[in-house]
Amino acid sequence: MDQYRIGTNCVQAGYRPGNGEPRQVPIIQSTTFKYDTSADMGKLFDLEASGYFYTRLQNPTNDYVAAKIAALEGGTAAMLTSSGQAANFFALFNICETGSHIVASSSIYGGTFNLLSVTMKKMGIDVTFVSPDASEEELNAAFRDNTRAMFGETIANPARTVLDIELFARVAHAHNVPLIVDNTFPTPVNCRPFEWGADIVTHSTTKYMDGHGAGVGGAIVDSGNFNWMAHPEMFPGLCTPDESYHGIIYAEKFGQGGAFITKATSQLMRDFGSIQSPQNAFYLNLGLESLHVRMPRHVENAEAAAEFLEAQPEVTFVNYPGLPGNKYYERARKYLPHGGCGVVTFELKGGRKAAEAFMKELRLVAIETHVADARSCCLNPATSTHRQLTEEQLKEAGVPAGLIRLSCGLEDKEDLIADLRQALKAAAGAMD
Ligand SMILES: *Cc1c(COP(=O)(O)O)cnc(C)c1O
Repeated sequence: MDQYRIGTNCVQAGYRPGNGEPRQVPIIQSTTFKYDTSADMGKLFDLEASGYFYTRLQNPTNDYVAAKIAALEGGTAAMLTSSGQAANFFALFNICETGSHIVASSSIYGGTFNLLSVTMKKMGIDVTFVSPDASEEELNAAFRDNTRAMFGETIANPARTVLDIELFARVAHAHNVPLIVDNTFPTPVNCRPFEWGADIVTHSTTKYMDGHGAGVGGAIVDSGNFNWMAHPEMFPGLCTPDESYHGIIYAEKFGQGGAFITKATSQLMRDFGSIQSPQNAFYLNLGLESLHVRMPRHVENAEAAAEFLEAQPEVTFVNYPGLPGNKYYERARKYLPHGGCGVVTFELKGGRKAAEAFMKELRLVAIETHVADARSCCLNPATSTHRQLTEEQLKEAGVPAGLIRLSCGLEDKEDLIADLRQALKAAAGAMD
């Protein structure tokens, strides 16, 4: 399907029905699959033949949808996971083990920050966080002999920093490790990290890919560009025999384009069991069919909201990389020429009290712990996700008390702005 453009792939890639078969992706709501002989089934367990035997590892519905995401990112193989958290954990744990080290951008989703700094640390995997604005020298200095992966987010949630993918990829490759990029916010419609040198891409499909707040999910895509066998001693999981499958070597048997996803499926899915349900994969596919139509509208609404907010006296600053004057404006133009996504953050004069008063007055925009779906929503980190932090700590984290994260949905921008305007006016008293 990669001879087609991205919109055509959003609609049609992955599932190609044969004569008389269902037009829509069938939901294979079955935990197991039937075989005529145990010899047939044995070949699957030995990874000698490809096929399905148990939905904890693989399911045809999921594979159709994963194949579509692989086509959208321009990768060689992909898998769905039960959540974005599972996708990032699997992508890293597939090549890291006790004693390994990861270099990661410090500007990433809070859940991923916690996964790296607390949970994976307990597993004996160390992390060094680097600024997304670090120089090549500073990035190089973060690497150690045991570093096995570099990690960042194309557009960070919620800090909205833009990753210099080309620079991060160059540094990762100089140290013979892959660059893993979480591409949740822009989606492949607005940025394809493989084109800038990333090796593995992850997604929380819960966000724009699903796009309707219907199902939690994740995805991992392999570019097929990273040569694991160039340094087999660094990636023993891919380059030395797996005794749980009669000594196969993934990088040999499944090649550069298939080894990473096959190993993550046959080992990590087998052992951790974080598969996406086929029903959720079906919903995800419905979302993907309109992703190329929805993303430009999210961007249009976010740009309009950012421009409106920037001109209001009650607003101290607006953070949207597409705004001229934003610290990441030039980088956004390079990596996100069609815009990034629908999320804008801004700070109100009057801090926490003003934010609460403003949000109470909103009629269209709902208060939610979510971003990136069809309905606009917002959140004040100081009174929700970051509520345990003191005023001082909030400032240090770059999350001032009056900060609001606004996720612009697909409504008419005039109505969205009218809602923001009336809420600003109604809450004006709290902003003096
Ligand atoms: C939401 C999010 C995640 C976590 O995904 P879940 O589907 O909630 O597990 C990871 N990365 C980014 C950038 C996110 O926005």
